[in-house]
Amino acid sequence: MALILAVAVPGPFRSPLDYLPAPKLPTPAIGTRVKVPLGRRNVVGVVVSIQSDSRLDPARLRPAIAHLDASAILDTDILDLARWAADYYHHPIGEVIARCLPPRHRRPDAATLRRMLAWQITATGLACDLGQFVRAPAKVRALTHLRRAAGSVTAAELTGLGIRSEVLKQLEALDLVASKAALAPGGAPASPMGEALTAHAEQAQAVSAIIDGLDRFTAFLLDGVTGSGKTEVYLQAMAAALAAGRQVLMLVPEIGLTPQTQERLRQRFGEAVVTLHSGMTDVARLRAWESVRRGAARVLIGTRSAIFTPMPDLGLIVVDEEHDESYKQQDGLRYSARDLALIRARNRNVAVVLGSATPSLETLHNARSGRYRHLHLSARAGNALPPTLRLIDLRRHPVVDGLSEPLKQAMAETLAAGNQVLVFLNRRGFAPVLRCSDCGWIADCPRCDARMTVHSRPGGLRCHHCGTARPLPPRCPQCGAPEPMPVGQGTQRTEAVLKQHFQGVPVVRIDRDSTASQQALTAALEQIQVGAPALLVGTQMLAKGHHFPAVTLVAVLDADGGLFSADFRGSERLAQQVLQVAGRAGRAERPGRVLIQTLQPEHPLWSAILDQDYHAFAKSALAERSETGLPPYAHLALLRAEAPTRDAAWTFLETASGKLQPAAQGVAVLGPIPALRERLAGRYRAQLLLQSSERAPLHGLLRRCLPELDGLPEARRVRWSLDVDPIDLY
Ligand code: ADP
Ligand code: ZN
Ligand code: ZN
Repeated sequence: MALILAVAVPGPFRSPLDYLPAPKLPTPAIGTRVKVPLGRRNVVGVVVSIQSDSRLDPARLRPAIAHLDASAILDTDILDLARWAADYYHHPIGEVIARCLPPRHRRPDAATLRRMLAWQITATGLACDLGQFVRAPAKVRALTHLRRAAGSVTAAELTGLGIRSEVLKQLEALDLVASKAALAPGGAPASPMGEALTAHAEQAQAVSAIIDGLDRFTAFLLDGVTGSGKTEVYLQAMAAALAAGRQVLMLVPEIGLTPQTQERLRQRFGEAVVTLHSGMTDVARLRAWESVRRGAARVLIGTRSAIFTPMPDLGLIVVDEEHDESYKQQDGLRYSARDLALIRARNRNVAVVLGSATPSLETLHNARSGRYRHLHLSARAGNALPPTLRLIDLRRHPVVDGLSEPLKQAMAETLAAGNQVLVFLNRRGFAPVLRCSDCGWIADCPRCDARMTVHSRPGGLRCHHCGTARPLPPRCPQCGAPEPMPVGQGTQRTEAVLKQHFQGVPVVRIDRDSTASQQALTAALEQIQVGAPALLVGTQMLAKGHHFPAVTLVAVLDADGGLFSADFRGSERLAQQVLQVAGRAGRAERPGRVLIQTLQPEHPLWSAILDQDYHAFAKSALAERSETGLPPYAHLALLRAEAPTRDAAWTFLETASGKLQPAAQGVAVLGPIPALRERLAGRYRAQLLLQSSERAPLHGLLRRCLPELDGLPEARRVRWSLDVDPIDLY
């Protein structure tokens, strides 16, 4: 009786598909990749279970075309995590499993695997008598070449010498040569290299608490003000895990923004550290992934998708800046890497540390209710003092070109004292609006409910939502008046204004436009590190995690948008952003100050921020969330639909609502309502909000009803998606 493979294949399938093994080949193991036919294409799937029967007629099952791996490349840890994620986010299992593979491993041309292999001589191979192969010159050539080579030789190089892989496999069977993945920094030492700092008392307490919790599932919140030395705590806990023979996974919000963290890890742990993020080439990702999976690399630092990397010896997970929204994927599989880190740590029975100076309200709630152990670092490390924060009332001090007089004075003083100024403005481009001063016409995006942003160098109008670009109109298209005016400030305009105002002082701008390449960003950060007087202008890219020793003044140009956000997370986001960017001021010996321009100095949110009392803010914000039934006191899921017509999106959601409502015990089904930006990239968007005080009924409802929605005729006319635990409701 043939065994049947349950294969997770990419596509909209809510469960794995059944296949037969490829003819004449041994049954592949669970966790290996197979090439299988799907419709008229061939795709790469992963065997997730092996069964003795199928719900389908076995005579009609198709066989796999090839088995791509000799042994599992996804272990049960990852398969369990993928199953959990598929279930929790109600997402097709094959799509989740595809995320667990580096892009190269998702391609059906199995050759990519061979090219990555390398071969080396074994001890037996070194000692053996070549005379036994007189009639196999290829084997002699292979052995001679590998004996001479210092380390391993890639399969590609051997192929180039006319040595085919069959020959090598035959030698491998005789234990004369061995294959391994061609690792970038191979066989690396895991022992600490750089010196640890002497931990201060609170750090020492935190480190020993984490070390005590290493061998079982324990979740920690490392709640430490900016500059308090959280990284040192991670490093010392990591060193303990490594010394115990375990691997460590560290997640960071955006790797391009944290070369310093990477550098610090490398200094401490040397070549055992590898990184994974989407900015790397596919080959580099494959190498890093393979070296972690095979246990050669001991520390993996990566962005959110690194959570899916197999780590045979995983012993500790660190999530730095756990409040950061980049941990949540915003399309496709809308997962939270932070939440998956907790699930994975629980499954693996290891410790997980969430660190932040401004923890998310969800995490604080979990810490308060005792689910996480709450560790505090209450003061800055070394001699650094906390910065002082002050508001500048823009009603008394009107701005010219976005800058008030007191702010300009403070900047001049700071530069004169030989220090650096960081100017924070979370709006890239030159100006957010182009307007005709005669008739009031405004440049709107033709495809979105949004204004187009004015950009300089290269000049033009750009929509930040859909990417539409237009040349700057020389005249108003409505009344013909010449030269419509840019209104408001973006980072480019602020850069220009500062250059003009502080002539001779270097201005470094850091935003997505100025740092399109990693090199550009690294160069900019290096210039800042030098520490000579300079003005730094940037978006939230500058606010995250950096250590800029010479910055003593931080200017927040325009934060008022966050005071009146339509989103229930608006105030949380504002408090986090301002306190994080404030945390860049005065991190070394020189004291720092923070000046915040606002038209609303009396707004209650400012008082907690000025006191740098994130916990006071969090307490009142949590009380508000509890009263209004919002997370973390309620569980949300958002059913989104978009279509070329408003009608199609609404019809689908109304039908969906009709299916969900009657089954919705304990779950409120609200909507449909239009999305905040109803039209985006030429499509109309609407949504249905599902809200429940308990998780179980919400997920039960989704599990029962989603398969039915898949089959609705209305579903074919829209693109729809489900977002579990959405971070914004629009
Ligand atoms: P955080 O991640 O909490 O913002 P960092 O880990 O970046 O803080 O530490 C801030 C600064 O304090 C760094 O320059 C770091 O080298 C220094 N530092 C951290 N711990 C100590 C310590 N125990 N003794 C001296 N300096 C320390
Ligand atoms: Zn006009
Ligand atoms: Zn647009």
